[in-house]
Amino acid sequence: MIRIATAGFQHESNTFSSVPASLDLWRQSGILESADAIRAEYASSQSTLAGFFARAAEEPDVELVPLFFTRLMPMGAMTREATAFIFDRIIAALRDQGPWDAVLLPLHGAAVSETWRDADGELVRRVRETVGPNVPIGVALDMHANVAPQLVANATVVTVYQTNPHIDAYEQARHCAELVLQTVRGRIQPTCALAMPPLVVNILCQGTDDAPMRDLVKLARAQGARPGVLSVSVVEGYPYADVQEMGMSFIAVTDHDAALAQDVVQTLALAAWQMRAELNHGAASIDEALQQAQAAAAGPVVLFDVGDNVGGGSPGDSTLILHAARRLGIADLLQAVCDPEVVALAQAAGVGGRITAAVGGKSDSLHGTPFAISGVVTALSDGTYEETGPTHGGFRFFNDGASCALRTDDGYRLVLTSRSAGSASLQQFRALGIEPTAMKIIVAKGVHSPRPAMTPIAKAMIWVASAGVTSADLSTFTYQHRRVPLYPLEPDTHWP
Ligand SMILES: [Zn+2]
Repeated sequence: MIRIATAGFQHESNTFSSVPASLDLWRQSGILESADAIRAEYASSQSTLAGFFARAAEEPDVELVPLFFTRLMPMGAMTREATAFIFDRIIAALRDQGPWDAVLLPLHGAAVSETWRDADGELVRRVRETVGPNVPIGVALDMHANVAPQLVANATVVTVYQTNPHIDAYEQARHCAELVLQTVRGRIQPTCALAMPPLVVNILCQGTDDAPMRDLVKLARAQGARPGVLSVSVVEGYPYADVQEMGMSFIAVTDHDAALAQDVVQTLALAAWQMRAELNHGAASIDEALQQAQAAAAGPVVLFDVGDNVGGGSPGDSTLILHAARRLGIADLLQAVCDPEVVALAQAAGVGGRITAAVGGKSDSLHGTPFAISGVVTALSDGTYEETGPTHGGFRFFNDGASCALRTDDGYRLVLTSRSAGSASLQQFRALGIEPTAMKIIVAKGVHSPRPAMTPIAKAMIWVASAGVTSADLSTFTYQHRRVPLYPLEPDTHWP
């Protein structure tokens, strides 16, 4: 039997967020250490782990052993305690239950911890140290990874989602497992190369259906067809992590051909560099976006609240768009807001009851002030729902915490959640009796993650330059650890 271990953690750390990713929060989110629990949660999803499971199950002589997995929604850096716990458990399980023929690591790639600014790279380094130089290690990353040289140096194979929104996690993981299996069977000898041009891609320009990112991904696919190339990845990077490796990168894996791998990544890096201006365009102001939505002949018009991108580490309680809408006299608008206090008020009032409250705007000063409302509680729920259609990352089960739906007297439909919640599924609204297609305006918390849900129903989609810890305007952040120069933060950057 070929025995392969899989273990990992996934976190996208927004180092500008004031909420640390503490061990308590990881525990609340779910730390899975039994094979059965990991399979139950992920095997039927479309996530990275599901791809690993599916590929391994096709080989009668392969046993894939899930040891440890946890993921936590984006927020601030991982605390020392959380990092030590997660890393020690993964390494101990690998050591105690080995030896292994290979290891598959489902990681994100943009995790920062108080201990290690390159948390993913440090874990891969420790896994390599544990299993030794000859055991293949496959790493599957998110497209928002900020990839450091040590991660690539210690891995045998690295694959990365090539869609944003991320709907190919499963497929990329299968490919990662495939290459690792072929390595174990002695059919290939993978060599990886990494290129890191001094380039940040604005979060607004990261959609892989939009030009020019679409063209770059297409070019990468063409490079992937060259003989001897096993895998090619465009890595968009995650601009809200203040780390040395923040920014765009490219990874190529070839069959024992370092020069070819270098050529592939350099070709892509140069192509991206030519597109650098187009990879950094801006968004509409809040007022412009609302007025355009109001003027549209039909709804729903979806406004993407970029500054309160929960999937990027924002608190999910921004009221900036709500306040602007009221000031402009625009109602018929649906939005989710995180506010556990008002959910409790709604629970006390019951369905059909009236409440007067101040909603959202409580997490920090960046995301607006509380929004005063009077209205009727139209539904209550425990906040769980299931999405069987495509979702960002392939996830299926959602839990926004105790939730309610409100209709305010001046025409706003609000879903209030107890946990910060993105807008990855229309079930978030439908589970509370609100039909989003009946609305004129929907405010979605996110940039790309809401697209699988919203694109099919949206008459128009507008990205909004709202303020927040996920603002599209990178000049609003003070970086201390990033590389200098980086385009567009240093607009005169010359490269190569
Ligand atoms: Zn991502």
